[in-house]
Amino acid sequence: MLKIGLTGGIGSGKSTVARLFEQRRIDVIDTDRIARELVAPGQPALAAIVQAFGPKILQDDGRLNRTELRRRVFRDPEAKKNLEAILHPRVFTEMNRQADLCRSPYCILAVPLLVETDALHRVDRVLVVDCPEQIQIERVQHRDGLSDNMIRRILASQATRRERLQAADDVIVNDGDLGQLERQVDELHRFYLQLSHDPETG
Ligand code: ADP
Repeated sequence: MLKIGLTGGIGSGKSTVARLFEQRRIDVIDTDRIARELVAPGQPALAAIVQAFGPKILQDDGRLNRTELRRRVFRDPEAKKNLEAILHPRVFTEMNRQADLCRSPYCILAVPLLVETDALHRVDRVLVVDCPEQIQIERVQHRDGLSDNMIRRILASQATRRERLQAADDVIVNDGDLGQLERQVDELHRFYLQLSHDPETG
């Protein structure tokens, strides 16, 4: 199974690109979703997080308090490492399990932090969605209503455009309209189909 790792900074358009591949009947594995499911009440990863961060990391209803967790890992690199040690191996195990079940000619693994984590070797090709920072900021403001300042902090915590592009095998430039985006997805889709039939051409 040809595995394409899809990544990009916040607001670059990863989720939109993932949807376009799905519309072309390609299986997409969403690691954000896996991570959310792994910390649902009753899951071992949630118990491990409570062990590491204390019971105050839970809301009154027993669910993970994401805002508090984000606050803790933002200001404390050690806490961030602890959280990653709990989550990343579990996310990647589940990601591989789902990839093994894929039935499309190739699959897309959507991994927002592909470049920041040790996930690069887990995919056959890296597809980066790229656009200027200013556009990322405008999109996220529009989508999430976050402040300019908060978005800049998130951007600073992620890999730089340059780091991401250096890891890329393929790049989608998402600085125009949706038509421009679709055309690039179509072109890559044809290329990946060809690769999945004849791996030597890659
Ligand atoms: P990411 O998953 O990388 O954070 P999204 O795919 O959610 O980014 O895109 C961020 C926001 O920008 C979404 O609201 C999306 O609909 C919008 N968007 C993305 N690409 C385009 C585009 N080419 N034209 C217009 N809006 C876009």
